Amino acid sequence: MASKRDYYEVLGVDKNASDAEIKSAFRKKAKEYHPDLNKDNPDAAEKFKEAQEAYSVLSDENKRKMYDQYGHAGVGAGGAGSSGFGGGYSAGFDASDFDFGDIFDSIFGGGFGGSSSFSGFGGNSRRTSSRGSDVLMRMDITFDEAINGCEKKFTIEVVEDCDECGGEGGFDSKTCSTCHGAGTVTSQQQTILGSFLSKTTCPDCGGKGKTFKKTCHECNGKGKVKKNKRLTINIPAGINTGDRQRISGKGSPGANGGENGDLYIEFVVEEHKYFMRDNDDIYLEVPLTITEAICGGKKKIPTLYGNVSVNIPAGTDSGDKQRIKGRGVDNKYAHHKGDMYLVFKVLTPKKLSRDQKKLLDLLADTDLSTTEINNFEKFVKQRD
Ligand SMILES: [Zn+2]
Ligand SMILES: [Zn+2]
Repeated sequence: MASKRDYYEVLGVDKNASDAEIKSAFRKKAKEYHPDLNKDNPDAAEKFKEAQEAYSVLSDENKRKMYDQYGHAGVGAGGAGSSGFGGGYSAGFDASDFDFGDIFDSIFGGGFGGSSSFSGFGGNSRRTSSRGSDVLMRMDITFDEAINGCEKKFTIEVVEDCDECGGEGGFDSKTCSTCHGAGTVTSQQQTILGSFLSKTTCPDCGGKGKTFKKTCHECNGKGKVKKNKRLTINIPAGINTGDRQRISGKGSPGANGGENGDLYIEFVVEEHKYFMRDNDDIYLEVPLTITEAICGGKKKIPTLYGNVSVNIPAGTDSGDKQRIKGRGVDNKYAHHKGDMYLVFKVLTPKKLSRDQKKLLDLLADTDLSTTEINNFEKFVKQRD
């Protein structure tokens, strides 16, 4: 017989842990071992299940008392399997159907309210409706698409009511004869302390309260099907990396009639070869020849919104900046307009023709010094 681990040990808390400590320990474990976050770790699902089982007992005052006194046998979970209450636990868990938002909504959002003292152990016995979780999707867009705005079409998989059966899961329904329409059954559970009545989801109708003569083949009785949906979004001009757009109702499906979560699209904007974006300001490095830098003059400069003619001042140095007001990103998403900054870079020619060399020799014989150069020369002389 495989021995079950101690529930306190599973959650990593001591025997006197408060309810809040147990809750927080479970939340941590659930996050750590959640199957969706541990695709490469086959043990995670097992650990997740173990933590969930431990939590379902330790978070319940009665069950915890019995567990403290009688161990696993006291809560009907003795032996290798957890075939205790209603036998629903191990069978009911399917990692692929599990969803993060869902478990936290149902466990921490008060989903176990009311007469739930035993239902928490029954696997899928929760019947409260809960909203589906939100889904985040990343979308790459080009620099130009981000600046000018664009329309994007894409396909996502959404879970919707089955068309074939109208979301019912089958045809020709009749009231479930096992639970008489209640959706739950009450069973007697023998324990060391005597017998308990526990309420669990009806095994025949799965909680619906009715059964079907014919199960829908389209959805295998689930009432929901996955569909590929083609969506179109209009991305406003000026969107930047990290900005999000919400598409209502296209997230994960809700449970038991709860509404769907939302889909969030987060944009990742490709970098541009020349334009550098900083929020809504645009930086552009502008290479200058030595004569352009020395003499200045008019120069054609590309901006996001067409070329403009700019006056380069005589005597421009590498690293000098020039602002072009209002020529940054016209951000319709944030309702803000940025500026553009030119950053000059003077490029020294590496090869000269004979004529150019002659001209430069003539120039070199003249005094080209500046205050900065004169001060430096003085400094050198002091140290002779
Ligand atoms: Zn039933
Ligand atoms: Zn169907």
